[in-house]
Amino acid sequence: MHKILISACLLGEKVRYDGQHRLLDHPAIERWQREGRLVPFCPEVAGGLPTPRPAAEIRQRFPILVNSRDGQDFTPAFLRGAELALEVARRDGCCCALMKADSPSCSNSRVYDGHFSGTLVEGSGLAAAELMRHGIAVFDETQLAHLIDFIAAQTSCAA
Ligand code: SF4
Repeated sequence: MHKILISACLLGEKVRYDGQHRLLDHPAIERWQREGRLVPFCPEVAGGLPTPRPAAEIRQRFPILVNSRDGQDFTPAFLRGAELALEVARRDGCCCALMKADSPSCSNSRVYDGHFSGTLVEGSGLAAAELMRHGIAVFDETQLAHLIDFIAAQTSCAA
């Protein structure tokens, strides 16, 4: 049975930078969890960062640079977390991922601009980008309906 990698904070794990979670309360999530399809993963914690931790943003793409609000270089931890996300997704046979929107690790489409200005810009988080680069479809929590359709269309996932 194919599985779904999911941002751990969406499953209620208190792994966010502020020590909180972002539980996504939905019958589909409950069903997938009962079926054993969900693989919770937090790239930032897996990459070695503590919880709580300072908020971080992607400051630069080429070469990649991730800074915390207090000026620490989080780039190695973010890169390691992205590598591990792919490793875990492959190991557990994840056909897709459900990841937190607007996160510098997990977002599939937009992130904050790197200046802690509260401005969102186009671009994906490092872990989501790594998954997508290797053919794993990434949805965020605002796209849950699309993920439900995607899963239904994957006979191998639905089996
Ligand atoms: Fe959630 Fe992803 Fe941030 Fe971890 S890195 S707290 S899983 S959004």
